This record gives sequence, C-alpha cells and structure tokens, in this order.
Amino acid sequence: METATIQTPTGAELHRKLAAVDPGAYGPEACDRHAAEIRQILQLKRERNAIVLAHNYQRPEIFEIADFIGDSLELARAARAAEAEVIVFCGVHFMAETAKILNPERMVLLPEMRAGCSLAESVTAEALAERKAELAKLYPDLAVVSYVNCTADVKALSDACCTSANAVRIVEAIDSEHVLFVPDRNLADYVQSKSRKQIISWDGNCYVHHQITPTEIERVRNSIPGIQVLAHPECRRDVLALADAVLSTSAMMRYARESAADKFLIVTECGLSDRLLMEVPNKRFFKACKLCHYMKMITLGGTLDALRNLRYEITLPDEVIAGARQALEKMLELGG
Ligand code: SF4
Repeated sequence: METATIQTPTGAELHRKLAAVDPGAYGPEACDRHAAEIRQILQLKRERNAIVLAHNYQRPEIFEIADFIGDSLELARAARAAEAEVIVFCGVHFMAETAKILNPERMVLLPEMRAGCSLAESVTAEALAERKAELAKLYPDLAVVSYVNCTADVKALSDACCTSANAVRIVEAIDSEHVLFVPDRNLADYVQSKSRKQIISWDGNCYVHHQITPTEIERVRNSIPGIQVLAHPECRRDVLALADAVLSTSAMMRYARESAADKFLIVTECGLSDRLLMEVPNKRFFKACKLCHYMKMITLGGTLDALRNLRYEITLPDEVIAGARQALEKMLELGG
C-alpha cells in the first residue's frame, strides 16, 4: 500500500466540511486548531515514511489525516500490504496488534495505549484454553473461531479469526461442525441464525452496541416513514430483528451509497454516521448510535505526539505473532 497524497485543508475548508457533522464541535476556532495539527501531522508522516490507518469509528478530523479508512477486515488487508516504515494505527489496541501480526517488519504505533475494547477484555487466553479443553472432550472436531476483537494471544489459540464482514462465511468454511465462537455473544447469535452448524458462544459483548434497544429503533422508524434501518451484527438479536439490513461498517457505507433509498438510520458507533454525513452529502442519515470511548481516545494531538516521539510502539513475542498470524491468514484465505 502506497502513501496517499493528502492535501492540507485550511481551517475554513475544514469548518465547511465538518460543520455538517456537528456544528457545535467544529466551529471556526476549533477547525483552525485542527488544521494546524493536520499540517504538522502530514509533514511528519512524510519525514517518518509513515502511513495512518483509521477505523470507521474514529473522529471526523482523524479521517482527514488517514491514508486508508475502513472496517477491521479492510484495515487488516491494508496493514498487510503496507510498505511504509511506520504504521500509525488510529483505532484500538487489538487492531494495532493485528497490523503488527500481519506486517511484523513495520513499526506499528498506537497513539493512546488505553484505547482498549470491552469485547477484547472479555476473554483471556487462559480462560479460552480451559474452555477449549473442556469442549474438546464433548466435540472432538471442535474449532475455535475468534472475532478479531480479541487480544493477540487469544487469536494464537484460534483456528481462524473473522470480522463482522465475513463471520458467517468463515464459520461455514471451517472444517468442523462444532464451533466455539469468541468473544461476542451477539455476533455468535447472528452467525447461528445463518448457519446449521452448532455455535457455542462466549459471554462477551461490545458495550457500545449492546446498549442499543428496540425501543430506540421503533421510535425513529415510526416517526420517519420510509427510513431504512442499517444495523451492525454486534447489536442484540431483538434490535437486528428490526433492521432492513445487517451489515459491517464498510458494507453500510456501500449500501447507503448504492441504495435507491435516501434516508437511513445508522445503528452502530457514531463515527460511521459521521463518515456517511461527510462522504454522502446527498442523502440523510439519522443516528441511533452510541460513542465508543475507547475509539474516541485517539485525537489529532495524540497522533502528532505518536509521530514526533515514535510512540507507543506495539511489540509482541514471536511465538504469539506466529500463532495469531496463522489464524488471521486463515481468515484472509477463507474469507475472500
Ligand atoms: S465499538 Fe465496541 S467492539 Fe469496537 S472498540 Fe469499541 S467497545 Fe470494542
């Protein structure tokens, strides 16, 4: 992946663009400050031979410095293909680990080490090893499929990883009728609704998606006739039952661009609604979204600091990289 040429916006240009997302947060003064930081970041990226990969849930101003914006699957592919010496990962810790695992020769930096994930925290390698041993006695063909939202040492104990974009395809393709699916119970439920295999789920959830209720969706649907509801599969089953389409974040981007519909309720983290408002100005997007405080820990100031001081570097033991890489490569092989 080559470094993209990104133009430095002026404060006024940034204000015109970002005020569409949130006029209160992106007033002229805030945009002047952001523009000054963006200028320094773009300069440092050139000096360091660095690229910035950003997840769809990042802040709008982070999108302005990103060479690539995407969901977990797209970011994993982009990280694997990266040729720059430094990858600055604007996302959360497990995503930066994934970049390191797939491209260990590169220096991978995460601007804020506290940017974790409630799903990743819900499963440890020790607990998984114990559960796997228990279940293997009952199901000798047991396979472990781990959602990428987990730590590297959990990935290293898995037969394959998956993302929300390819979870059903990976479970169907894996050579086992019994699948221990970790750590997201809601995504496991969704996969089970699409597969005749036996899915054994873990008791984790994304606190952001899990708090969205059917009442919130129904209220908007009843007040805006014709609205299309797009929901992420990390949401609860009773929320997914109300959706017109269940999609990963990047699939939501494509769906909203290509659909004949012109109004959508976006049921996922708010960063995706912000991206849609910026990139698809001819349609209307309503938010049933929640903020992920981990994702929002990444700021322009933190990214500038990361590039200036080359911190915080992601390092992993070789054996963890080797084990986790197998599971991630299996996902890329089976998941297309
Ligand atoms: S949105 Fe949910 S799954 Fe994604 S990083 Fe935040 S807590 Fe984790």
